[in-house]
Amino acid sequence: MEGVISRIPGGKNLRDYEEACRTFSFREAAAELYGNRPGPVNIAYLAVDRQVTEKGLRDKTALFFESGDREEKYTFAQMAAYSNKFANVLKKHGIGKTDRVGIFMPRCPELYISFLGIVKRGALAVPLFEAFMEDAVFDRLRDSGAKAIITTPELRKRIPANKLPDLKHVFVVGGCGTLKKGDIQWHNEMAEASREYEVTRAGPEDPYLLLYASGAEGSPKGILHAHRGAVGIYITAKWVHDLCQDDIYWCTADPGWITGIAYGFLGPWMHGVSVVIRGGRFDAEDWFKTLSKYKVTVWYSAPTAFRMMIRGGPGLHARYPLYLRHILSVGEPLTGEVLEWSLRELGQPIYDTWWMSETGMNLICNYRCLPLKVGSIGKPFPGVRAAVIDDEGNELPPNQIGNLAIEAGWPAMFTGVWNNHEEYYNYFRHYPWFTTGDAAYYDRDGYFFFQGRVDGVINTAGERVGPNEVENRLLQHPAVTDAGVVGKPDSLRGEIVKAYIRLDESYNWTKELADDIRNFVKQGLAAHAAPREIEPRGFIPKDREGRNNRRVLREWALGLDHK
Ligand code: AMP
Repeated sequence: MEGVISRIPGGKNLRDYEEACRTFSFREAAAELYGNRPGPVNIAYLAVDRQVTEKGLRDKTALFFESGDREEKYTFAQMAAYSNKFANVLKKHGIGKTDRVGIFMPRCPELYISFLGIVKRGALAVPLFEAFMEDAVFDRLRDSGAKAIITTPELRKRIPANKLPDLKHVFVVGGCGTLKKGDIQWHNEMAEASREYEVTRAGPEDPYLLLYASGAEGSPKGILHAHRGAVGIYITAKWVHDLCQDDIYWCTADPGWITGIAYGFLGPWMHGVSVVIRGGRFDAEDWFKTLSKYKVTVWYSAPTAFRMMIRGGPGLHARYPLYLRHILSVGEPLTGEVLEWSLRELGQPIYDTWWMSETGMNLICNYRCLPLKVGSIGKPFPGVRAAVIDDEGNELPPNQIGNLAIEAGWPAMFTGVWNNHEEYYNYFRHYPWFTTGDAAYYDRDGYFFFQGRVDGVINTAGERVGPNEVENRLLQHPAVTDAGVVGKPDSLRGEIVKAYIRLDESYNWTKELADDIRNFVKQGLAAHAAPREIEPRGFIPKDREGRNNRRVLREWALGLDHK
């Protein structure tokens, strides 16, 4: 599918993009968010307590939750009170400002309550995706020096607490009577804790979130976000997601990733909007049912999920009445197949948005008040300057592919890389540009077009996988003497993780061995990081410094070496 889809009427908040670009400043958004307060207040307060104390929404449902047998809803007043309780629990155990607290749980109300409690306490939440296995959990907890973690009995098994000297407290949600010695029962503590808590004041640069994101080389990086980011999340939730108080919003991303945090709950709650959280695994029919049952009006998801819905059940959408008025996408290229489907079956286009863990907020987006260009991630958010630069940092003219860069200074910009200043400054090596690691070009109308990663980071089903992490794990397998990992284009998942390995001479290549190696990576890292394809080769290509030559690996994955 190609071309331009002309402006679809019906957007409620941002009426004139060009006018906003001319006149808007983030100071204005800050004034709107903070009201007559002097400056950044705690983002957890802005998300929940404020809806109770200032907006008259105490009895409004903040969270509709459903997973398996659980079906619950929580008002803003309950979220405020329960998160106060958890802040008190942390206080009782000596966890305070700037301490890091891991969250390793499947999506459930306790996760969101814990997150808010941590942030109210002035501590840093360290979300860990529930699919992470022991090595991935260990690396992140060790690097962050987390003092406490909240988990479930099932996931507790993947936390090697004895190897983590900084980890003093393990809070376990559920599983009464089966706790390991020294672990703390989350619900018991909550039952005893007071509902009153004076939320810790936050300065603009005070961090509240430490989120690990994979890079091309080395271990995942701890990306730090500060309370000032609230302004960026708030105004994009309003202008990009077009949220109004009577919307029902469903962002399908897991809170182990930035999308599931900024737009999963913080952004919509700052607007007093009810959110739906669906636990469990993906199921096409179940997703249609969820959209219908909760009368979701604004939906934020990802191309792989849309494609799975398309393939999971032709005609399914017709069985469930939908109430959608705005649909958005993130994380991977929005393909023509998906856009065609949404126009044909859902009667409206899907609006693509571009951003990353480091940016903390949507930065290049499509808006209701602008025509859509098929294949474009859209235009910079008003007040944000984006460019395409060459490897020396010079700006390139339209229609030339280069490095996608954003001028430093947007409100949700990350404030650091944990334990690694050098890595942080590397992002700003062409100051004032922040170099994203993505390739892109823009056309003469100012629309940007994403052209893949520059650095070999793999994006599989919208999840970021560092090839280095997978290679290191592969090398721990006795049959593997060398390994090179690359993203291979895939029609469902965008890319799959493809591994080339050099086999130890004492092993024969069999399907069983391939399965064993794949499981070995899965057991150590996470299912999404395990290579879907493994191919033995006589050698792994290297560059002059002896590192894996990713360009050649990519040629292999594309089959170009056979031509
Ligand atoms: P993460 O930090 O995990 O959110 O991953 C960010 C990366 O996802 C970006 O650097 C891009 O490579 C990719 N990405 C995000 N949004 C889009 C989009 N709309 N289209 C294509 N790729 C995207």
